[in-house]
Amino acid sequence: MFKKILIANRGEIACRVIKTAQKMGIKTVAVYSDADADALHVRMADEAVHIGPAPAAQSYLIIDKIVDACKKTGAEAVHPGYGFLSEKEAFCAALEAAGIVFIGPRPRAIAAMGDKIESKKLAAAANVSTVPGYMGVIADAEEAVKVARDIGYPVMIKASAGGGGKGMRVAFNDDEAREGFQSATNEAKSSFADDRVFVEKYIVEPRHIEIQVLGDSFGNVIYLGERECSIQRRHQKVIEEAPSPFLTPETRKAMGEEAVALSKAVDYQSAGTVEFIVDRDQNFYFLEMNTRLQVEHPVTEMITGIDLVEQMIRVAAGEKLALTQDEVKLTGWSLEARVYAEDPIRNFLPSIGRLTRYQPPEESDSVRVDTGIYEGSEISMYYDPMIAKLVTYGDTRADAIESMCQALDAYYIRGINHNVNFLTAIVTHPRFAEGRLSTGFIAEEFPDGFHGGAMSAETRKVLATVATMLHLSQVDREAEIEGKMDELGPRYGDDWVVNLGGEDIEVSFDMTYEGCVIRFGDESVSVESDWVPGMPLVQGLIDDSFVTVQADKLAEGYRLTHNGVSLKAMVRTPRAAALAKLMPVKLPPDTSKYLLCPMPGLVVSIDVAEGDEVKAGQALAVVEAMKMENILRAERDAKVVKVNVKKGDSLTVDAIMVEFE
Ligand code: ADP
Repeated sequence: MFKKILIANRGEIACRVIKTAQKMGIKTVAVYSDADADALHVRMADEAVHIGPAPAAQSYLIIDKIVDACKKTGAEAVHPGYGFLSEKEAFCAALEAAGIVFIGPRPRAIAAMGDKIESKKLAAAANVSTVPGYMGVIADAEEAVKVARDIGYPVMIKASAGGGGKGMRVAFNDDEAREGFQSATNEAKSSFADDRVFVEKYIVEPRHIEIQVLGDSFGNVIYLGERECSIQRRHQKVIEEAPSPFLTPETRKAMGEEAVALSKAVDYQSAGTVEFIVDRDQNFYFLEMNTRLQVEHPVTEMITGIDLVEQMIRVAAGEKLALTQDEVKLTGWSLEARVYAEDPIRNFLPSIGRLTRYQPPEESDSVRVDTGIYEGSEISMYYDPMIAKLVTYGDTRADAIESMCQALDAYYIRGINHNVNFLTAIVTHPRFAEGRLSTGFIAEEFPDGFHGGAMSAETRKVLATVATMLHLSQVDREAEIEGKMDELGPRYGDDWVVNLGGEDIEVSFDMTYEGCVIRFGDESVSVESDWVPGMPLVQGLIDDSFVTVQADKLAEGYRLTHNGVSLKAMVRTPRAAALAKLMPVKLPPDTSKYLLCPMPGLVVSIDVAEGDEVKAGQALAVVEAMKMENILRAERDAKVVKVNVKKGDSLTVDAIMVEFE
């Protein structure tokens, strides 16, 4: 076994690999860029080597720097994680030349699976079912139309070098095929410096289901069941689970055996994933093979009890698989939610900055948090803005979902925007509970984006109860302040009015030995909690069920967050509530005359000048953030009176860029 390995990655996956290495008694070496000097993976590793400036292209992606770091520290092997150099054949070759072991498949397997057209041909040759289509490079838009007509609409135009959902377009007719060919080609050229595209049938109501395989250097390959990753936004996975609620044991077996056949065809060793698209009749088609550890691998670990990183390290060290196919048992259910630094309310714009407060849910047999950050860490613009992977486990799917809801309620993140409420809205959606998933789920269920979770009667009850309870504690606490005139103890009054996000709810209460009973109309709710002011989470029993509510103190009242809903809550006496109605409402400032910068970013261009008349939809400026260029357009016809910024300026969110008449 290796004595020391280097992890050529950062963030949660570097930390996750280090954990397994530590468990196996292997010393670890981290690498880091300028931006990551204080990162968690650097703190966790035994040693760390600085490899350059923040941009990945100048640090994590430079093969020579990784090889040098191995030589300097005596690391015998490298785990690449995912992304960065994990699927670069040249990286494996360079390590091999330096006598360092690559913890992953052989270069030949990486090369064979790196190209979509080539891998599809290989799959077809190994008798693996592939999406019907044309397995050649499309020369121009007219050929795209011809091929699309032969296959039959709808079709999908895909970049052969594609990855991460880039360079893919769906076309339902000739015009869309022409346009799709152009835009997929352009995107492929700019993202992968390779503009080859091909065309295949677009599978309707598709589910994304993938098979985890594991191979050794003796030609043994087994499959560890499937993961369903149908909950996607713009072809990017958001929630994954294992097993799939859709597959029959027969389909699972058939898919597993095809995945193994394909892996054997390329002498696959290490952990790998064969991705399939599955239609509503359980017909499945090969999409691609990922020759690395996947982001969503933990759900497989939870239901098989197998540590995939440990297996990868053992195989790389030359060990034989200790497990046969018959010994693989799938037990229980696991879900993973990707917690991202992004703002779902603002069209999922990435949110960068410091995590001023960060308290993940407690880990247990049913909750696992894979993360690379800690309170005070910064989410930088240089890398993927993932905060953590939240993984839950249960005996049944319903149990795993329940654990996920509880864990999301307890995930406390402040300082940047995040998608926790959006994730909650998905996992609490009735269609999700039914398991009626498809890759169109998010687009269909949230057609005009996300505007906060839906308020159910249950959530309303919980929030009103907690608001009342917090107020009671507050009154109690105030009564304890020394030097108060009143010696008669706290004065509660009999009735209160809870204002929940603008709605007034009349309540009254009784103190009990354990807590209190709160009454709304004819309903009464009992509450028990150890909360004291200052704690971000209010946890306790409401009518005997355990609930978690996040509470942020405001100048008046609290902002409460629970079950995907976040709103302001205030508790007043009936008199104060009646008077509050008479208070003038402060209107938000009118920003319709401004172009505001929607995210922190860099001005790439300003396309208008003072005095210009612009038309609705016209491009006004381009701002780059998180390596994406965003075109900002005029919302209506207007005249430009002032331009406040210029090319190269770095802007904060809501900076006024252009003013209109
Ligand atoms: P990438 O390598 O960019 O992730 P994939 O080939 O894995 O691209 O496809 C990503 C997603 O796009 C799939 O999970 C699926 O949702 C969708 N997709 C890909 N091919 C098809 C197809 N032929 N029909 C329908 N959806 C598809």
